[in-house]
Amino acid sequence: MRVEHEIKRAAEAIKAADALLITAGAGMGVDSGLPDFRGTQGFWRSYPVIARLGLSFEEMANPAWFQKDPHLAWAFYGHRLNLYRSTVPHAGFTRVLEMGRPKPYGYFVFTSNVDGHFQKAGFAPECIVECHGSIHHFQCTASCSDEIWDAQGEAVAIEESTFRALEPLPRCRNCPALARPNILMFGDWSWLGHRSERQHERLSRWLDDLARSSARLAVVELGAGTAIPTVRLTSEQVLQRIGGTLIRINPREEDVPSGQIGLPFGAAEGIRRICAWAENLAGDANPRA
Ligand SMILES: [Zn+2]
Repeated sequence: MRVEHEIKRAAEAIKAADALLITAGAGMGVDSGLPDFRGTQGFWRSYPVIARLGLSFEEMANPAWFQKDPHLAWAFYGHRLNLYRSTVPHAGFTRVLEMGRPKPYGYFVFTSNVDGHFQKAGFAPECIVECHGSIHHFQCTASCSDEIWDAQGEAVAIEESTFRALEPLPRCRNCPALARPNILMFGDWSWLGHRSERQHERLSRWLDDLARSSARLAVVELGAGTAIPTVRLTSEQVLQRIGGTLIRINPREEDVPSGQIGLPFGAAEGIRRICAWAENLAGDANPRA
């Protein structure tokens, strides 16, 4: 079976690697039970009130709402903040962490997810790049300073039936304006990017180190689609630069550059299958399914 052969190749590449880069998109969170915003219908199933307003995800995820209708804006982001706080990351997070931690050059994570779930699952914060920011960090809506602060302790209550956030809404620490999540939104000219830039710089230094040392790299890409291709492009650009093996796990869009490995599974399932093979690599070649 071709797929079984590819899973075995993936397990071997990860076993042989000196370093692991984990790249992740929205599909990684879906397996923890988080909503999929792909396509307007999927988004509206999660947010019936927004469906009644006729707003797409791209229209709702716009910083202008913090001026136009702050109680709606904070209902949307507050609901997600509460959801991401209360959701437990699926077992695949821990499995990937256990793959990366023993490597001589360790691991790094590059994710477009704003849910903070790699940190929650125990990944080292200094080894994570959140390219679209994090819902667990806030900034000022009025750009009074460039401060980004940890949102721990900030609570947002929402009246569920009307989907309105209740007072008091989160405020800036330095001026009377509202706070907003430090997430890169659509049409967003006031997002403060310096936290993510520092993360990018740490990843660049790690990659430089790998290149200098000729370390063998495996890139495990999880649930990253083509609609917003940042994560997929990052996986491929790193490979072009450093070399190594790409393992792309994606239930619908698993196509890969020639010679690389594409596995047509959801994130949790793909990781589980690779682990089942890995546990058997030392012995005979029959995977424990
Ligand atoms: Zn302010």
